[in-house]
Amino acid sequence: MIQNFQGMARRLGQLLRKEGITNERVLAVIESLPRHLFMPESLAHKAYENTALPIGNGQTISQPLMVATMTQLLMQHDCSKVLEIGTGSGYQTAVLARLIPEVYSVERIAELQYQAKRRLKQLDLHNVKMRHGDGWQGWASRAPFDGIIVTAAAREIPEQLLQQLSDGGVMIIPVGEQRQQLYVVRRFGDHFEQKQLGDVRFVPLVPGALA
Ligand code: SAH
Repeated sequence: MIQNFQGMARRLGQLLRKEGITNERVLAVIESLPRHLFMPESLAHKAYENTALPIGNGQTISQPLMVATMTQLLMQHDCSKVLEIGTGSGYQTAVLARLIPEVYSVERIAELQYQAKRRLKQLDLHNVKMRHGDGWQGWASRAPFDGIIVTAAAREIPEQLLQQLSDGGVMIIPVGEQRQQLYVVRRFGDHFEQKQLGDVRFVPLVPGALA
């Protein structure tokens, strides 16, 4: 059992500052969230290291620096309704829930989705709607979203997700297979502008069938 996570979470925040994260609201959330609750108890002693960790079903909880980087990118825009693809542990979802009024999250593995839902409830985060579904399809009935954040690597940018962005909206998404790049895509009417921000490493955004 981790008793005093606050000190460890603050040290993680310091490390993220050194790595270039500057958004104080994002840092404050990471410094106050119990990341150890988002993983198997046997790994909890590593929860405040800057590393991705296995969460079962062949998936991982993303590295804190990547969560902070993607959240900071999103926060540069005025987002009040955000869609996350790939709930996984729910940690990124919880970070978003503390910063953004309305959060939607889609996960294809039912067991992970169930656990994430329980964790968010335990933390009193009630502004999140979750769905067991295929992220390639997004969540059309709840669209449009001012922000979309994809936490698994897509072999190409999913067309459905582009269509679910609001005018002026922003999508943060890792794209590629062997070699992946983090993309920021902005929508201006029917026109999309994309920027590549460098190499990243994510589990794949699996096409099709649910698990
Ligand atoms: N944000 C999560 C990242 C988990 S890893 C965290 O930090 O815990 C990526 C997640 O995307 C996995 O849980 C995986 O099951 C999910 N995923 C992969 N392909 C998907 C798809 N097509 N639709 C929805 N979720 C998907």
